[in-house]
Amino acid sequence: MALLQISEPGQSAAPHQRRIAVGIDLGTTNSLVASVRSGVAEALPDADGEVILPSVVRYPGDGDPVVGRAARDAAALDPGNTISSAKRLLGRSAAAIRADRAQLQYALVEGQSSVPRIVTAAGEVSPVEVSAEILRSLRERAEQTLCGGSNESLAGAVITVPAYFDDAQRQATKDAARLAGLPVLRLINEPTAAAIAYGLDRAAQGGEADDGGVIAVYDLGGGTFDISILRLTRGVFEVLATAGDTALGGDDIDRAVADWIAAQAAGGHADAHAERRLLDAARAAKEALSTTAATAIEVDLGDGRHWSGELDRASFDELIEPLIRRSLAPCRRALRDAGVARDEVRAVVMVGGSTRVPRVRERVGEFFQQPVLTDIDPDRVVAIGAALQADVLAGNKPDSDVLLLDVIPLSLGLETMGGLAEKLIPRNTTIPVARAQEFTTYKDGQTAMALHVVQGERELVEDCRSLARFELRGIPPMVAGQARIRVTFQVDADGLLGVSAEETTSGVRASIDVLPSYGLSDGEIEQMLSASIDHAREDVDARRLREQQVEAGRVIEALDAALAEDAGDYLDAAERAAIEARRSELLAAREGDDHAAIKAAIGALERASDAYVARRMNASVARALAGHHLDEYAAPPPAGGKSE
Ligand code: ADP
Ligand code: MG
Repeated sequence: MALLQISEPGQSAAPHQRRIAVGIDLGTTNSLVASVRSGVAEALPDADGEVILPSVVRYPGDGDPVVGRAARDAAALDPGNTISSAKRLLGRSAAAIRADRAQLQYALVEGQSSVPRIVTAAGEVSPVEVSAEILRSLRERAEQTLCGGSNESLAGAVITVPAYFDDAQRQATKDAARLAGLPVLRLINEPTAAAIAYGLDRAAQGGEADDGGVIAVYDLGGGTFDISILRLTRGVFEVLATAGDTALGGDDIDRAVADWIAAQAAGGHADAHAERRLLDAARAAKEALSTTAATAIEVDLGDGRHWSGELDRASFDELIEPLIRRSLAPCRRALRDAGVARDEVRAVVMVGGSTRVPRVRERVGEFFQQPVLTDIDPDRVVAIGAALQADVLAGNKPDSDVLLLDVIPLSLGLETMGGLAEKLIPRNTTIPVARAQEFTTYKDGQTAMALHVVQGERELVEDCRSLARFELRGIPPMVAGQARIRVTFQVDADGLLGVSAEETTSGVRASIDVLPSYGLSDGEIEQMLSASIDHAREDVDARRLREQQVEAGRVIEALDAALAEDAGDYLDAAERAAIEARRSELLAAREGDDHAAIKAAIGALERASDAYVARRMNASVARALAGHHLDEYAAPPPAGGKSE
């Protein structure tokens, strides 16, 4: 009797070898690359041990572009060819930049389709090209550190962007990555990355606390301030509101300290070079005051004048109070826009180098009425979150430990015999994902298979949502259960589902694309989920019954085929009568709703026909395997096999 081929559930199509993926914080002032190594996410240093790469590119007239510290140090000498803050220009039109009154040290011209280009000694460059230089430098650093001498390459990168970036700015970021030869696994929002770094996506999982988890991310960088209000729902971060100030950051703190020094020195500085030195001294003092109570300052003001003195923490705090207050107004606005009260905020994440200033931490903590999160280095926290996400997207995490970010809201599966839904990708699986499973034919000589793609948690197809139907045709005629049909479900990062089916011995293929969540509101998803819980018990019973009914049909069908062919050769009348009796009992049991009775009847029929089957097989193994019944079916039955 031909049994159905039953396969193990298929694993992800990706190889199990660890894939190297990185997270990149492409910042306005500074950029970093991080990666998960031995289970820990860490920022990667360059050859000199520096993890921070200043987001500055210098284009000298001769030779290659210079990126990072060397470029930044040359900024004062060669401002026209040294591009900083290219991120402020990325994906924006020249007109929009001009309207922003951005103070640029370099010349802009309007290129084709209003994309601005920067005039340098090495020719015109676009903001995308400048960003690509920064990404290339980080890619090379990562390859040297992670891929070593081997010819492995990076599987890809998760790159962070500000939450307020529009489509054009996000596209420009992707273009820069492409130019830099860096495959983009996904762009994620900077505040989301910071929240991931703190594990805030996991903290609330699996409980009622799972909804309404509101998180504030306060990001005070070099030149910009951003506040984002996120909500975590079913493991997915949603940006409720963002606000900020594009001209508020550490630079303003430097300026405030420099003005204070100039006032103490009376007479101010001599020229642009002296001003640079003044600002550098101010920044050094500011950074020192993050860890000490007072710091000595010495500065050459030009024209042979020097000033030296001391600045203490209390005076510094007073100097910067107006700047801190300027950041709290957007915080209020963001909460209002998000429709969230201050006491609903569950955690406040501090991001950006300027949140090292103790007074900033204090004041923000007062505002949100709770201690702020500062355990992770505020320079690195975004890159670290991106690295954790990259590790998941590269497929390096077991399913039990995935970060639930963009996830499949409802399980995706296939209809199998008996109207059962076989789930290939369970709900809450992080995308992108690929899963494959093998099915087989139900009837001898079956040359086509109907594939019905369904979505939902219920066991019966009629209780699930139908997404798509297609057919695999041209399966070579074989005995039932011999065809090996590998069905692969693949969901890309945008949620697009592709289903393909291939009969692996012959290579015939068919495929279809579906948008699984299309047309489903959150409410409908909710309803489908609660229905699956309400009906859990009856669903299990229904599945058991259908499975036994299908099994009964299979056994009878195979037996009938054998009897029609050669009963006379291997059976005597008494034996035949016994088999017929058990067969009738099974047919009757199949009409009822007692799965155990059907199972018992199947067992009885198999025992009654055991001797016949054995004689028959001994006599004609080859004939049985070759398959003599090549009947075609107008409407092909659905996938027959199921995993067990
Ligand atoms: P961006 O996100 O704009 O690229 P960062 O987050 O790297 O910027 O922040 C850079 C700013 O952080 C600079 O103004 C720098 O002076 C400031 N900063 C770095 N370290 C400290 C410190 N120890 N104390 C105060 N400010 C600091
Ligand atoms: Mg930043």
